[in-house]
Amino acid sequence: MEILHVTAECYPYAKAGGLADVAGALPKYQNGLGHIAKVVMPMHRTKFLLDNKWDTVHKGSFTMGHYFFDYTIIKEQTNKLGFDLYAVDIFGLFNREKVYGYDDDAERYTAFQIAVVDWISRWNHHPGVVHVHDHHSALVPFMMQNCFAYRHLASVPTVLTIHNAQYQGWMGWDKQNYIPAYDTWQWGKLDWNNTINPLASGIKCALKVTTVSPSYMDELKHNANGLEALFEYEKGKCTGILNGIDNQVWDPQTDTYILDNFSVKDVDAGKELNKKKLCEDFGLDIKKPLFIFIGRLVGEKAAELLPQSINDAVYHINGRMNFLLLGSGDPAVESELERMRSSLVGFYNSQIGYNEKLAHLMYAGADFLLMPSRVEPCGLNQMYALRYGTMPVVRSTGGLKDTVIDFGESGGYGIRFNQASVGDITYSIYRAVELYEDKKRMTLLRKRMMEIDNGWEVSAGRYIDLYRTIL
Ligand code: ADP
Repeated sequence: MEILHVTAECYPYAKAGGLADVAGALPKYQNGLGHIAKVVMPMHRTKFLLDNKWDTVHKGSFTMGHYFFDYTIIKEQTNKLGFDLYAVDIFGLFNREKVYGYDDDAERYTAFQIAVVDWISRWNHHPGVVHVHDHHSALVPFMMQNCFAYRHLASVPTVLTIHNAQYQGWMGWDKQNYIPAYDTWQWGKLDWNNTINPLASGIKCALKVTTVSPSYMDELKHNANGLEALFEYEKGKCTGILNGIDNQVWDPQTDTYILDNFSVKDVDAGKELNKKKLCEDFGLDIKKPLFIFIGRLVGEKAAELLPQSINDAVYHINGRMNFLLLGSGDPAVESELERMRSSLVGFYNSQIGYNEKLAHLMYAGADFLLMPSRVEPCGLNQMYALRYGTMPVVRSTGGLKDTVIDFGESGGYGIRFNQASVGDITYSIYRAVELYEDKKRMTLLRKRMMEIDNGWEVSAGRYIDLYRTIL
């Protein structure tokens, strides 16, 4: 089966969050199962683009409203990621540093989708499945089914995977002429609450909709940033398929970013050496349990609760722990976290920014990973942490609920709490600190965590089964 994934980001080419990790791994594992999975994404100007060799495979043009665009599709020559990777350049739209966050994102991503559909429409065969991801590519099913120029693609099965339903790509109806000429009777398939809502359009038009964990699928019927009723209405075609992790990239035995490689057999010693390096670099105390947070500093991750929770934990649990944070996002949270570096010397440190190497070292050297998320569609961090023997301390939501069992339950290995509140976070830190003193139990739980297999093999197969239902 030939599967074309359409995505805004893909690791290691360009990454802003978990979507990149999925787009960089799922196709590889689908190919491993004997299929032909390909990825097409915008030609972001990153180091990966410059460091690799590309062939030009197609050139075309289209109009979008009153704009006229030429586009070029290039393909990475060596297939080094384990799948064919295509990048789309559209003059003036993707020669930027970041993946998202520009005033013209609506124009950039609508143009990207038109270019992709235009390109597919010129293939001399049809792909088996077009699999789109999040709102940046969610207009593709509508365009394939309703735009006059592309209607010969209407029979190609489409799947939408929602990695995060908070962001929907809203556009005013004043931009309706951006969509290539379409059957205007079908305008309702673009609309939600009087705006063009690409994510809602994808949910309406794709033959199947998946979210990245079963619990998140359930939660969306009650909390979906305005789309609750749509999820309830379309529930018949919606499924939750838990993300996997790329066990080849995230392997403490071979990870080249960490100081000392280790396996389940020597987990305590291996983690100790990595922790030593972290503690030396960040002025922390190796004897105390090390709590980390890695991620976007935004409300979804309950990041604004971290400063108060850390302060409370240090003062009320007598400084029996250390914290190290890595992330970027809300400027107010960033500056508070920076400020605390001088008020909690020896107990806390942080690095504001994005740092892949440091993230790997932190998963390897830390004892506990904090994830108090308000919303967590799947969450990859907790799965990486488990693989590196670091205990996740998580709020019971979305994918966190599906992947972490509290150590108080039979077979458990993590810490779970219910409220995204300073009280629940601090109490969970207390539970973790107490557990840490029981060295034997800690070792047992670390081994238990590392033996869990959250690899992509199973989930990649589930997607294939899903495609078969619509072929
Ligand atoms: P989301 O996609 O909502 O941001 P996920 O848990 O699904 O969250 O994926 C986050 C990914 O991004 C993980 O691979 C995590 O290690 C990585 N990450 C997030 N912030 C940073 C950062 N500041 N530095 C390095 N890696 C980061």
